[in-house]
Amino acid sequence: MEYGPAPEDADRARQWISEQGATFGHWINGAWIDASHHFESVNPATQETLAMIGQASSSDVDAAVAAARQALGPWQALGGEGRARHLYALARQVQKHARILSVIETLDNGKPIRETRDIDILLVARHFYHHAGWATLVDEELPNSEPLGVIGQIIPWNFPLLMLAWKVAPALAAGNTVVLKPAEHTSLSALYFAQMSHDAGLPPGVLNIVSGDGNAGRELVEHSGINKVAFTGSTSVGREIREATAGSGKALTLELGGKSPFIVFADADLDSAVEGVVDAIWFNQGQVCCAGSRLLVQESVADDFLGRLKTRMQSLRLGDPLDKAIDMGAIVDRGQLETIRSYVEGAAKEGASCWQAGSGVPDQGWYFPPTLVTDVAPAHTIATEEVFGPVLAVMTFRTHSEAIEIANNTRYGLAASVWSENVNLALEMASKVKAGVIWVNCTNEFDAAVGFGGYRESGFGREGGIEGLWAYRRGSLDFQPDENPPADPALPQRPAEGNLLDRTAKLYIGGRQVRPDSGYSRPVAGMDRSLKGEVGEGNRKDIRNAVEAAHGAAGWGRGSAHGRAQVMYFLAENLESRADELAKRIKELTGTDGEQEVTVAISRLLYYAGWCDKFEGVTHSAPGGRIVFALPEPIGVMGLICPHSHPLLGLVSLMAPAIAVGNAVVVIPSENAPLVATDFYQVLETSDVLAGVVNIITGSRPELAKELARHDNVDGLWCAGHHEIATEVERLSSGNLKQTWVFSGERDWCDANLSQGRAFLRRATQVKNIWVPYGE
Ligand code: NDP
Repeated sequence: MEYGPAPEDADRARQWISEQGATFGHWINGAWIDASHHFESVNPATQETLAMIGQASSSDVDAAVAAARQALGPWQALGGEGRARHLYALARQVQKHARILSVIETLDNGKPIRETRDIDILLVARHFYHHAGWATLVDEELPNSEPLGVIGQIIPWNFPLLMLAWKVAPALAAGNTVVLKPAEHTSLSALYFAQMSHDAGLPPGVLNIVSGDGNAGRELVEHSGINKVAFTGSTSVGREIREATAGSGKALTLELGGKSPFIVFADADLDSAVEGVVDAIWFNQGQVCCAGSRLLVQESVADDFLGRLKTRMQSLRLGDPLDKAIDMGAIVDRGQLETIRSYVEGAAKEGASCWQAGSGVPDQGWYFPPTLVTDVAPAHTIATEEVFGPVLAVMTFRTHSEAIEIANNTRYGLAASVWSENVNLALEMASKVKAGVIWVNCTNEFDAAVGFGGYRESGFGREGGIEGLWAYRRGSLDFQPDENPPADPALPQRPAEGNLLDRTAKLYIGGRQVRPDSGYSRPVAGMDRSLKGEVGEGNRKDIRNAVEAAHGAAGWGRGSAHGRAQVMYFLAENLESRADELAKRIKELTGTDGEQEVTVAISRLLYYAGWCDKFEGVTHSAPGGRIVFALPEPIGVMGLICPHSHPLLGLVSLMAPAIAVGNAVVVIPSENAPLVATDFYQVLETSDVLAGVVNIITGSRPELAKELARHDNVDGLWCAGHHEIATEVERLSSGNLKQTWVFSGERDWCDANLSQGRAFLRRATQVKNIWVPYGE
């Protein structure tokens, strides 16, 4: 059977472009502002210039931020219902303008009209509807929090309008105002949306759009007038943004790249899985952050499966993306096309075999055919790097544990798709694959109610769902780091001859007391400046050992929450039995009320022991017969830089929530009174805490904090401290993009309202969303 052409009419979209003189400025404070410089936006399917797009200068970014700042007060004064009405109006506008928006998106990006019309734009409307609801509920459902302020948002070109919706809808619902920079290849739908928002009555300044290249993005990131950066794009730019915002006090969420596994077991419905692969890697020409770009297929069915896949690939139609019967459109630009080509050529050079269906590739425009790469070894570039194109790397596995190992053999962790008719096997895989989204017998499913975002170098923070909304609020426990560093601990006076006792407390690593690698110790003074003892001078090697020990204790997180609760109750009980001794020690080292501190530390342990088996996930009923389990998982190995004051309570306030939800921790205690922490490990030793779950390294807080921040096997880091140490922690964390939380250590740690609560548990976990279809 032959297909005739079925092109969508692009006249209205082209007419809109020409009504603007095919030249666009920036959308600031509810009006067009002329740009002084422009660049071309090109239709990748035809290489025709569609329009000239403004390149934002620093004064344009200034003006946009100022407008957003001015609009903030009135926007918040509207209240939840007022904001909901605007978001609802935007959703309605998207529906009314769905056709023209789909066409603009296809013209500008090259993606098939079938996808923009049936997927992207529908999800855009859904996002605004969903968040209209959140606007009315946010104050009730996210108590003790407030909007962050002005948000700088930077989005990529692969889903231009959908990424705008993912960013703008929650930000506005949560009571913030926005300056957004679209990708230079695909600004048109954002500009159309800006004008549409005006027609829908959105107050001026609430949403501002500045277009331009990476330099405009950099201006926005570095602007002192914004309170948060929300970024989607490549991991390398995400890393640059992490460094640029370090120490600025700006909140940050990063949605970055991936190399997601698509795992097919022998008992899977193979024909459905083949369709899954088509969606996973050839949807949007493979330019999808969560594309299933690594196919892991069980060896016993590999030949059969690849045979079926090749047959299916031969029926994929490449061509004019405006044609409604086309499966794959054009690649977004020439540079991206060259990148894809060079990955495929590189794979062949590394010894892989590349196969392409004979799908006709149009002569004009930037197209790349669906490509299958076999004979791939796990270390090959094609198996490790994000290609961002229609290229599938195939590997085989024999056992399910081998599948897990290969799936997790990546620095990313955005998504995974698991195909098996055995529900036990599929759910076990879902729990063990390290990724933010797992699709069981389905793929590339999205919904506004369901959070989306990654683990590891795929970034942090979620978009969508309640967790996505939290990312746009400041909690009452989010204190900015202290301005000034604390005074250095007092040095003890030299003890009289004959009084030199060897009371050097060791480090605590892997459940054992160990000497520091340096062999050095540091003296600890009491309030009367007398020598009270010495503690080990920890260094980089000790941190390495502690991190390794913490990884060895992964069974703590995988074990039952009930078991963790029991251990934590036991810990509280054992602390109570040594209360007098610890209170005396605190008093002698800090001069503060040790009894009160120990009493509150015991209740804090009891509080989080209570939470262990109650901080649980939720289920979402996503459209299309999908149930989604949103489960908070431990972050992994966390570094905890404890506050200077409250040497026991500060430590317990950070450690208890982190281990309650299953993390293992490396603790850097107060430098002022480290002997309290070393006394405390004797409590740990007697309380059945699995070896390696809590490790304590004494020494220089700033130096040890830096070691933890740059360690690639530390997954999260909390730092109670001053501005300088917080800046270093955030900057150095960019290596593996670990999640950081920096805050003031100078608070009343005895006050539960300031130092305990769900916020700590939320920060100690990341939500994994597992999609499971039901029904035949
Ligand atoms: P980038 O990360 O470079 O771009 C994403 C957005 O950030 C764009 O708006 C871009 O502007 C802007 N930007 C670029 N540099 C900076 C900077 N220093 N500071 C602030 N903003 C900046 O992705 P690319 O578009 O260049 O794509 C490159 C690769 O990134 C792809 O091949 C793919 O592997 C990956 N990628 C991943 C995406 C994802 O969703 N995970 C999405 C897009 C790309 P401009 O448009 O002008 O470059």
